[in-house]
Amino acid sequence: MIITEGEITFEIPDHLTITKKDEVFYNPKMKTCRDISLAVIQAFINKYYKDKEIKIADALSGTGIRGLRYAKELNAKVKVFLNDINPNAYRKILQNAKLNDISNIEVSNEDANTFLSRHFRFFDIVDIDPFGSPSPYIDQAIRSLKTKNALLCLTATDTSALCGRAKKSCLRKYLAVPLRSKDCHEFALRILAGYAMRMATKYELFLKPIFCHSTDHYVRVYLITDRGAKKADKTFKMLGYVKDYDGIKEVRNYGGEGFSGPLYIGNLYDSDIAKEALEIAEKRGFEKRVLKILKLIYDESKLGQIGCYDIHQISKVLKTSPPPMNEILSTLENNGFYATIAHYNPKGIKTNASLKDVIEVILKY
Ligand code: SAM
Repeated sequence: MIITEGEITFEIPDHLTITKKDEVFYNPKMKTCRDISLAVIQAFINKYYKDKEIKIADALSGTGIRGLRYAKELNAKVKVFLNDINPNAYRKILQNAKLNDISNIEVSNEDANTFLSRHFRFFDIVDIDPFGSPSPYIDQAIRSLKTKNALLCLTATDTSALCGRAKKSCLRKYLAVPLRSKDCHEFALRILAGYAMRMATKYELFLKPIFCHSTDHYVRVYLITDRGAKKADKTFKMLGYVKDYDGIKEVRNYGGEGFSGPLYIGNLYDSDIAKEALEIAEKRGFEKRVLKILKLIYDESKLGQIGCYDIHQISKVLKTSPPPMNEILSTLENNGFYATIAHYNPKGIKTNASLKDVIEVILKY
Protein backbone atom coordinates (compact mmCIF):
# COMPACT_ATOMS: atom_id res chain seq x y z
CA MET A 1 0.00 0.00 0.00
CA ILE A 2 1.33 3.44 -0.94
CA ILE A 3 0.59 6.33 1.44
CA THR A 4 1.82 9.84 2.11
CA GLU A 5 3.05 11.35 5.35
CA GLY A 6 4.58 14.81 5.44
CA GLU A 7 6.59 15.16 2.24
CA ILE A 8 7.20 11.43 1.94
CA THR A 9 5.31 8.98 -0.24
CA PHE A 10 6.11 5.49 0.85
CA GLU A 11 5.17 1.87 0.88
CA ILE A 12 3.85 0.01 3.89
CA PRO A 13 2.67 -3.61 4.22
CA ASP A 14 -0.96 -4.15 3.09
CA HIS A 15 -2.54 -5.59 6.23
CA LEU A 16 -1.28 -3.76 9.30
CA THR A 17 -2.11 -4.99 12.79
CA ILE A 18 0.13 -2.30 14.36
CA THR A 19 1.85 -4.91 16.48
CA LYS A 20 5.30 -6.46 16.55
CA LYS A 21 3.88 -9.22 14.35
CA ASP A 22 3.65 -6.98 11.28
CA GLU A 23 6.15 -7.73 8.53
CA VAL A 24 7.30 -4.11 9.01
CA PHE A 25 5.95 -1.85 11.76
CA TYR A 26 4.09 1.35 10.92
CA ASN A 27 1.65 3.24 13.15
CA PRO A 28 -0.21 6.07 11.34
CA LYS A 29 -1.25 7.49 14.76
CA MET A 30 2.39 8.28 15.49
CA LYS A 31 2.35 10.89 12.70
CA THR A 32 1.58 13.44 15.45
CA CYS A 33 4.73 12.37 17.26
CA ARG A 34 6.81 12.57 14.08
CA ASP A 35 5.38 16.00 13.20
CA ILE A 36 6.18 17.33 16.67
CA SER A 37 9.62 15.77 16.40
CA LEU A 38 10.32 17.54 13.11
CA ALA A 39 9.30 20.85 14.68
CA VAL A 40 11.40 20.38 17.81
CA ILE A 41 14.46 19.16 15.91
CA GLN A 42 14.19 22.03 13.42
CA ALA A 43 14.04 24.48 16.34
CA PHE A 44 17.04 22.78 17.93
CA ILE A 45 19.01 22.95 14.65
CA ASN A 46 18.14 26.61 14.19
CA LYS A 47 19.49 27.37 17.65
CA TYR A 48 22.63 25.26 17.68
CA TYR A 49 23.49 24.04 14.20
CA LYS A 50 22.71 26.75 11.70
CA ASP A 51 24.77 26.21 8.52
CA LYS A 52 26.53 23.10 9.87
CA GLU A 53 26.20 19.54 8.66
CA ILE A 54 24.21 17.40 11.10
CA LYS A 55 24.37 13.66 11.55
CA ILE A 56 21.16 12.06 12.80
CA ALA A 57 20.61 8.47 13.93
CA ASP A 58 17.20 6.83 13.63
CA ALA A 59 18.29 3.66 15.42
CA LEU A 60 14.99 1.71 15.26
CA SER A 61 13.54 2.87 11.95
CA GLY A 62 10.71 0.47 10.98
CA THR A 63 9.60 1.60 7.50
CA GLY A 64 12.08 4.47 7.77
CA ILE A 65 9.32 7.09 7.79
CA ARG A 66 10.80 9.06 10.70
CA GLY A 67 14.38 9.15 9.43
CA LEU A 68 13.34 9.72 5.82
CA ARG A 69 11.21 12.66 6.88
CA TYR A 70 14.22 14.08 8.74
CA ALA A 71 16.33 13.58 5.61
CA LYS A 72 13.81 15.34 3.36
CA GLU A 73 11.89 17.83 5.51
CA LEU A 74 14.50 19.35 7.81
CA ASN A 75 15.69 22.67 6.55
CA ALA A 76 19.41 21.97 7.06
CA LYS A 77 22.30 19.98 5.68
CA VAL A 78 21.62 16.60 7.26
CA LYS A 79 22.78 13.05 6.84
CA VAL A 80 20.48 10.46 8.40
CA PHE A 81 21.63 7.01 9.50
CA LEU A 82 18.65 4.62 9.53
CA ASN A 83 18.84 1.23 11.17
CA ASP A 84 16.52 -1.65 12.00
CA ILE A 85 17.20 -5.22 13.13
CA ASN A 86 14.36 -6.58 10.99
CA PRO A 87 15.59 -7.48 7.46
CA ASN A 88 12.13 -6.71 6.03
CA ALA A 89 12.33 -3.22 7.55
CA TYR A 90 15.84 -2.78 6.12
CA ARG A 91 14.61 -3.63 2.61
CA LYS A 92 11.58 -1.36 3.04
CA ILE A 93 13.75 1.58 4.11
CA LEU A 94 15.95 1.20 1.01
CA GLN A 95 12.83 0.89 -1.18
CA ASN A 96 11.18 3.95 0.37
CA ALA A 97 14.38 6.00 0.08
CA LYS A 98 14.53 5.16 -3.62
CA LEU A 99 10.85 5.95 -4.09
CA ASN A 100 11.48 9.44 -2.69
CA ASP A 101 14.82 9.93 -4.38
CA ILE A 102 16.55 10.44 -1.03
CA SER A 103 20.31 9.96 -1.03
CA ASN A 104 21.52 11.80 2.10
CA ILE A 105 21.18 8.61 4.14
CA GLU A 106 23.01 5.46 5.20
CA VAL A 107 20.99 2.33 6.01
CA SER A 108 22.00 -0.59 8.21
CA ASN A 109 20.43 -3.82 9.44
CA GLU A 110 21.72 -4.61 12.93
CA ASP A 111 20.88 -4.49 16.60
CA ALA A 112 20.45 -0.85 17.66
CA ASN A 113 23.10 -1.13 20.39
CA THR A 114 25.63 -2.56 17.93
CA PHE A 115 24.79 0.20 15.47
CA LEU A 116 25.13 2.91 18.12
CA SER A 117 28.36 1.55 19.60
CA ARG A 118 29.94 1.59 16.12
CA HIS A 119 29.46 5.36 16.15
CA PHE A 120 31.18 6.56 19.34
CA ARG A 121 30.63 10.31 19.93
CA PHE A 122 29.54 10.69 16.33
CA PHE A 123 25.93 11.87 16.14
CA ASP A 124 24.43 15.31 16.67
CA ILE A 125 20.96 13.81 17.14
CA VAL A 126 19.96 10.29 18.18
CA ASP A 127 16.34 9.16 18.00
CA ILE A 128 15.26 6.06 19.92
CA ASP A 129 11.72 4.98 19.04
CA PRO A 130 11.35 1.36 20.14
CA PHE A 131 8.58 -1.05 21.02
CA GLY A 132 7.97 -0.34 24.72
CA SER A 133 10.85 1.01 26.74
CA PRO A 134 13.91 2.84 25.38
CA SER A 135 15.83 1.88 28.52
CA PRO A 136 17.94 -0.93 26.91
CA TYR A 137 19.31 1.53 24.33
CA ILE A 138 19.88 4.66 26.40
CA ASP A 139 23.46 3.92 27.46
CA GLN A 140 24.72 3.30 23.92
CA ALA A 141 22.68 6.22 22.63
CA ILE A 142 24.46 8.53 25.08
CA ARG A 143 27.87 7.16 24.07
CA SER A 144 27.10 7.68 20.39
CA LEU A 145 26.25 11.36 20.89
CA LYS A 146 28.67 14.27 20.69
CA THR A 147 29.37 15.54 24.18
CA LYS A 148 28.21 19.14 23.70
CA ASN A 149 24.93 20.40 22.30
CA ALA A 150 23.83 17.08 20.88
CA LEU A 151 20.22 15.93 21.17
CA LEU A 152 18.85 12.68 22.57
CA CYS A 153 15.22 11.95 21.62
CA LEU A 154 13.48 9.12 23.48
CA THR A 155 10.03 7.63 23.00
CA ALA A 156 8.53 5.24 25.57
CA THR A 157 5.26 3.38 25.07
CA ASP A 158 5.51 1.40 28.31
CA THR A 159 3.29 3.91 30.09
CA SER A 160 1.87 1.22 32.38
CA ALA A 161 5.35 1.07 33.95
CA LEU A 162 6.10 4.80 33.89
CA CYS A 163 2.63 5.79 35.13
CA GLY A 164 2.67 3.34 38.01
CA ARG A 165 0.28 0.56 37.03
CA ALA A 166 3.25 -1.80 36.65
CA LYS A 167 5.44 -0.56 39.49
CA LYS A 168 7.95 -3.40 39.38
CA SER A 169 8.44 -2.95 35.67
CA CYS A 170 9.26 0.72 36.30
CA LEU A 171 11.79 -0.29 38.94
CA ARG A 172 13.40 -2.80 36.57
CA LYS A 173 13.60 -0.48 33.59
CA TYR A 174 14.14 2.93 35.15
CA LEU A 175 15.38 2.14 38.68
CA ALA A 176 12.63 4.40 39.94
CA VAL A 177 9.40 4.11 41.90
CA PRO A 178 6.55 5.56 39.79
CA LEU A 179 3.79 7.75 41.15
CA ARG A 180 0.15 6.78 40.66
CA SER A 181 -1.61 10.11 40.65
CA LYS A 182 -3.75 12.31 38.48
CA ASP A 183 -0.62 13.75 36.91
CA CYS A 184 1.21 10.45 36.50
CA HIS A 185 1.90 11.29 32.84
CA GLU A 186 4.00 14.27 33.82
CA PHE A 187 5.81 12.10 36.35
CA ALA A 188 6.34 9.50 33.60
CA LEU A 189 8.21 12.16 31.63
CA ARG A 190 10.18 13.10 34.72
CA ILE A 191 11.12 9.48 35.44
CA LEU A 192 12.26 8.87 31.87
CA ALA A 193 14.26 12.13 31.73
CA GLY A 194 15.73 11.49 35.19
CA TYR A 195 16.80 7.98 34.24
CA ALA A 196 18.59 9.17 31.09
CA MET A 197 20.25 11.95 33.12
CA ARG A 198 21.50 9.42 35.68
CA MET A 199 22.88 7.18 32.92
CA ALA A 200 24.89 10.09 31.55
CA THR A 201 26.68 11.21 34.72
CA LYS A 202 29.22 8.36 34.68
CA TYR A 203 30.50 9.74 31.37
CA GLU A 204 30.77 13.18 33.01
CA LEU A 205 27.89 14.33 30.85
CA PHE A 206 24.95 16.50 31.79
CA LEU A 207 21.70 15.85 29.95
CA LYS A 208 19.32 18.77 30.13
CA PRO A 209 15.69 18.25 29.14
CA ILE A 210 14.64 20.83 26.54
CA PHE A 211 11.26 19.52 25.46
CA CYS A 212 8.87 16.68 26.26
CA HIS A 213 5.29 15.57 25.83
CA SER A 214 2.89 12.85 26.86
CA THR A 215 0.39 12.12 24.07
CA ASP A 216 -1.91 9.15 23.37
CA HIS A 217 -0.17 5.97 24.54
CA TYR A 218 3.40 7.26 24.69
CA VAL A 219 5.75 9.78 26.29
CA ARG A 220 8.62 11.50 24.54
CA VAL A 221 11.57 13.47 25.93
CA TYR A 222 14.34 15.53 24.30
CA LEU A 223 17.59 16.11 26.17
CA ILE A 224 20.67 18.07 25.19
CA THR A 225 24.25 17.09 26.13
CA ASP A 226 26.86 19.12 27.96
CA ARG A 227 30.22 17.87 29.16
CA GLY A 228 32.35 18.07 32.31
CA ALA A 229 32.19 16.56 35.80
CA LYS A 230 30.93 19.79 37.37
CA LYS A 231 28.15 20.09 34.82
CA ALA A 232 27.26 16.39 35.34
CA ASP A 233 27.07 17.02 39.10
CA LYS A 234 24.22 19.46 38.46
CA THR A 235 22.14 16.36 37.68
CA PHE A 236 21.83 15.47 41.36
CA LYS A 237 20.43 18.88 42.26
CA MET A 238 17.76 18.29 39.67
CA LEU A 239 16.65 14.87 40.87
CA GLY A 240 14.39 14.17 43.80
CA TYR A 241 11.57 12.20 45.31
CA VAL A 242 7.91 13.09 45.37
CA LYS A 243 4.95 11.99 47.43
CA ASP A 244 1.29 12.62 46.61
CA TYR A 245 -1.18 13.23 49.46
CA ASP A 246 -4.57 13.32 47.70
CA GLY A 247 -3.22 15.59 45.01
CA ILE A 248 -0.91 17.67 47.20
CA LYS A 249 2.70 16.87 46.42
CA GLU A 250 5.72 16.87 48.71
CA VAL A 251 9.05 17.06 46.91
CA ARG A 252 12.33 15.95 48.47
CA ASN A 253 15.84 16.28 47.10
CA TYR A 254 17.77 13.31 45.75
CA GLY A 255 20.01 11.84 48.46
CA GLY A 256 17.88 13.68 51.06
CA GLU A 257 19.62 15.05 54.18
CA GLY A 258 21.09 12.27 56.27
CA PHE A 259 20.26 9.47 53.82
CA SER A 260 22.48 7.58 51.36
CA GLY A 261 21.24 5.51 48.45
CA PRO A 262 19.45 4.06 46.62
CA LEU A 263 21.74 1.13 47.48
CA TYR A 264 21.64 -2.64 47.76
CA ILE A 265 20.40 -3.85 51.14
CA GLY A 266 20.43 -7.62 50.60
CA ASN A 267 23.14 -10.15 51.46
CA LEU A 268 26.42 -9.42 49.69
CA TYR A 269 27.69 -13.00 49.68
CA ASP A 270 26.86 -16.56 48.81
CA SER A 271 28.35 -18.24 51.85
CA ASP A 272 29.10 -21.48 49.94
CA ILE A 273 31.12 -19.57 47.39
CA ALA A 274 32.97 -17.64 50.10
CA LYS A 275 33.82 -20.94 51.82
CA GLU A 276 34.95 -22.59 48.60
CA ALA A 277 37.12 -19.59 47.68
CA LEU A 278 38.83 -19.78 51.06
CA GLU A 279 39.46 -23.50 50.69
CA ILE A 280 40.85 -23.12 47.18
CA ALA A 281 43.17 -20.31 48.31
CA GLU A 282 44.36 -22.44 51.22
CA LYS A 283 45.01 -25.46 48.96
CA ARG A 284 46.94 -23.32 46.50
CA GLY A 285 49.08 -21.89 49.27
CA PHE A 286 48.13 -18.26 48.55
CA GLU A 287 49.78 -15.57 50.65
CA LYS A 288 48.63 -15.01 54.25
CA ARG A 289 46.98 -11.71 53.50
CA VAL A 290 44.72 -13.29 50.88
CA LEU A 291 43.75 -16.06 53.30
CA LYS A 292 43.04 -13.54 56.05
CA ILE A 293 40.73 -11.49 53.83
CA LEU A 294 38.94 -14.59 52.54
CA LYS A 295 38.49 -15.96 56.06
CA LEU A 296 37.02 -12.68 57.34
CA ILE A 297 34.68 -12.54 54.34
CA TYR A 298 33.56 -16.13 54.85
CA ASP A 299 32.80 -15.34 58.51
CA GLU A 300 31.01 -12.17 57.49
CA SER A 301 29.01 -14.00 54.81
CA LYS A 302 27.13 -15.93 57.47
CA LEU A 303 25.52 -12.65 58.61
CA GLY A 304 23.17 -10.39 56.69
CA GLN A 305 24.05 -7.31 58.75
CA ILE A 306 24.25 -3.99 56.93
CA GLY A 307 27.41 -2.21 58.08
CA CYS A 308 29.20 -2.98 61.35
CA TYR A 309 29.52 -1.71 64.92
CA ASP A 310 32.66 0.41 65.07
CA ILE A 311 33.87 -0.23 68.61
CA HIS A 312 36.02 2.91 68.76
CA GLN A 313 33.18 5.12 67.56
CA ILE A 314 30.72 3.61 70.05
CA SER A 315 33.26 3.82 72.92
CA LYS A 316 33.84 7.48 72.12
CA VAL A 317 30.12 8.18 72.38
CA LEU A 318 30.03 6.20 75.68
CA LYS A 319 33.06 8.19 76.88
CA THR A 320 34.99 5.04 77.70
CA SER A 321 38.11 3.44 76.25
CA PRO A 322 37.55 0.68 73.71
CA PRO A 323 38.20 -2.86 74.89
CA PRO A 324 40.53 -5.07 72.80
CA MET A 325 38.67 -6.51 69.83
CA ASN A 326 39.41 -10.12 70.79
CA GLU A 327 37.84 -9.56 74.22
CA ILE A 328 34.66 -8.26 72.64
CA LEU A 329 34.50 -11.15 70.19
CA SER A 330 34.98 -13.81 72.89
CA THR A 331 32.50 -12.16 75.30
CA LEU A 332 29.86 -11.95 72.59
CA GLU A 333 30.49 -15.59 71.68
CA ASN A 334 30.26 -16.62 75.36
CA ASN A 335 26.93 -14.80 75.47
CA GLY A 336 25.71 -17.02 72.64
CA PHE A 337 26.17 -14.61 69.73
CA TYR A 338 28.03 -15.01 66.48
CA ALA A 339 30.66 -12.29 65.97
CA THR A 340 33.49 -11.49 63.59
CA ILE A 341 35.63 -8.52 62.52
CA ALA A 342 34.48 -6.67 59.40
CA HIS A 343 36.95 -7.40 56.60
CA TYR A 344 37.12 -3.72 55.65
CA ASN A 345 37.38 -2.26 59.17
CA PRO A 346 39.66 -3.76 61.87
CA LYS A 347 37.75 -1.78 64.53
CA GLY A 348 34.37 -2.96 63.29
CA ILE A 349 32.37 -5.91 64.58
CA LYS A 350 29.76 -7.75 62.58
CA THR A 351 27.44 -9.78 64.75
CA ASN A 352 23.90 -11.02 65.23
CA ALA A 353 23.91 -9.29 68.63
CA SER A 354 22.05 -5.99 68.92
CA LEU A 355 23.70 -2.62 69.48
CA LYS A 356 22.43 -2.80 73.07
CA ASP A 357 24.22 -6.16 73.57
CA VAL A 358 27.45 -4.73 72.15
CA ILE A 359 27.21 -1.65 74.39
CA GLU A 360 26.75 -3.89 77.44
CA VAL A 361 29.95 -5.76 76.57
CA ILE A 362 31.91 -2.53 76.10
CA LEU A 363 30.68 -1.07 79.38
CA LYS A 364 31.29 -4.29 81.31
CA TYR A 365 34.90 -4.50 80.30
N1 SAM B 1 10.50 4.69 14.32
C1 SAM B 1 9.47 3.99 13.60
C2 SAM B 1 8.39 4.93 13.12
O1 SAM B 1 8.41 6.13 13.50
O2 SAM B 1 7.51 4.49 12.36
C3 SAM B 1 8.83 2.90 14.42
C4 SAM B 1 9.76 1.94 15.03
S1 SAM B 1 8.97 0.59 15.78
C5 SAM B 1 8.12 1.26 17.15
C6 SAM B 1 10.33 -0.24 16.54
C7 SAM B 1 11.26 -0.87 15.54
O3 SAM B 1 12.37 -1.38 16.27
C8 SAM B 1 10.72 -2.05 14.75
O4 SAM B 1 10.80 -1.76 13.40
C9 SAM B 1 11.63 -3.24 15.13
O5 SAM B 1 11.92 -4.06 14.02
C10 SAM B 1 12.86 -2.52 15.60
N2 SAM B 1 13.69 -3.24 16.57
C11 SAM B 1 13.30 -4.04 17.61
N3 SAM B 1 14.37 -4.46 18.32
C12 SAM B 1 15.45 -3.89 17.73
C13 SAM B 1 16.85 -3.92 18.04
N4 SAM B 1 17.32 -4.59 19.06
N5 SAM B 1 17.67 -3.22 17.24
C14 SAM B 1 17.20 -2.51 16.18
N6 SAM B 1 15.90 -2.45 15.85
C15 SAM B 1 15.04 -3.12 16.62
